[in-house]
Amino acid sequence: MSVVTREDLLEWDRNDPLGPMRAQFRIPAGTIYLDGNSLGPMPRTTPERVAKAVEEEWGEDLIRSWNKHGWIELPQRCGAKIADLIGAAAHEVVVADSTSVNLFKLLAAALRLRPDRRVILSDTGNFPTDLYVAQGLIELLDKGHELRLVEPEKALEAIDDSVALVMLTQTDYRSGRRHNMAEITSKAHGVGALVLWDLAHSAGAFPVDLRGAKADFAVGCGYKYLNGGPGAPAFLFVAEQHQNQVRPPLSGWMGHEAPFQFDRDYRPAAGISRNLCGTPAILSMTALDAGLDILQKAGMTAIREKSVRMTELFIELMETHCADFGFELFSPRDPEIRGSQVSFRHQQGYPIMAALIEQDVIGDFRAPDILRFGFTPLYLRYGDIWDAVQILRDIMTEGSWDQPKFHKRQAVT
Ligand SMILES: *Cc1c(COP(=O)(O)O)cnc(C)c1O
Repeated sequence: MSVVTREDLLEWDRNDPLGPMRAQFRIPAGTIYLDGNSLGPMPRTTPERVAKAVEEEWGEDLIRSWNKHGWIELPQRCGAKIADLIGAAAHEVVVADSTSVNLFKLLAAALRLRPDRRVILSDTGNFPTDLYVAQGLIELLDKGHELRLVEPEKALEAIDDSVALVMLTQTDYRSGRRHNMAEITSKAHGVGALVLWDLAHSAGAFPVDLRGAKADFAVGCGYKYLNGGPGAPAFLFVAEQHQNQVRPPLSGWMGHEAPFQFDRDYRPAAGISRNLCGTPAILSMTALDAGLDILQKAGMTAIREKSVRMTELFIELMETHCADFGFELFSPRDPEIRGSQVSFRHQQGYPIMAALIEQDVIGDFRAPDILRFGFTPLYLRYGDIWDAVQILRDIMTEGSWDQPKFHKRQAVT
């Protein structure tokens, strides 16, 4: 039986060192936003920053802005800010393209480093785009590569010396379960395999230690916990020791050693920059940069501390106030192996989530039956979690989720 009351939680909010960060975001009044793991909300500085890039830089300084406002180094500058969040060195991360495209680039580069092996090992819980990109690359290469999928819990034991590359999403997008990055990477290296981590639900959610784990490659997403805006550019990481070995499959001019010599032949740039392809999307990268500045200020240790407290609280409140309604915890109970989200299964998950969203409690639904709630310490309050659970309880008690309008499936869930 829970002893936590709403008053207790308002007190937690008053004493919360991250409390003041909420003012940095625009959160519509009355909205409880539990979907920052899917699309981060808008930082208050973003409109100004983007307006400046449009009005002053593009509008007035025109093409001179590539030099004058440092547009040309924006991918590396943003990369260095992300490096801080994921335990990488500044020169090991660059911002470019989408997560899917970066996966393609690094997968192809990694397979070339293991020409005698044919297996990409991943797990059945991986995000579909990761699997699709691997399937497409295998078809393109036409060299008999195999995408070997095992249950997430079996990933470690499935690593053997046939594996060229282990490709895993560190934090499962549905359950929030975390792979042990250091352990898996170490086993892979022991049998001569490389490892590529997808950090889409890790970067900005908790401290990641790529260097500590000796990771080879990583990619991640700009519009989730990094709050870069819809379709924000993504990032990629290549460990220093591989940087001058990788041959980028998308050998565009921005990855050339000297793009403005306009040479006829491709020569890859030294370091991380060879993984760029075309001209960076300056306006969207400017928005991402605004999001990164807030995360840097807050610090990942404080974020993780509050995140654990929030996810623990949510599970406790659900199991106290919504115990009778058939919700089944789908996320790990142990916060050590949980990201910053909590998912519950329910047969009527879709209409229940639709009913919640209508009441401005915004989470999301993942097929077949998963209600997903993201906890983002920068702008969520403990009191919000209390209110969200009470609203859910009311929906369940009254049965108000069971209306035709909530059963109708939308294009994006
Ligand atoms: C969100 C997400 C992506 C998104 O890829 P895009 O190319 O940005 O659409 C990729 N992988 C994982 C694991 C994700 O969660």
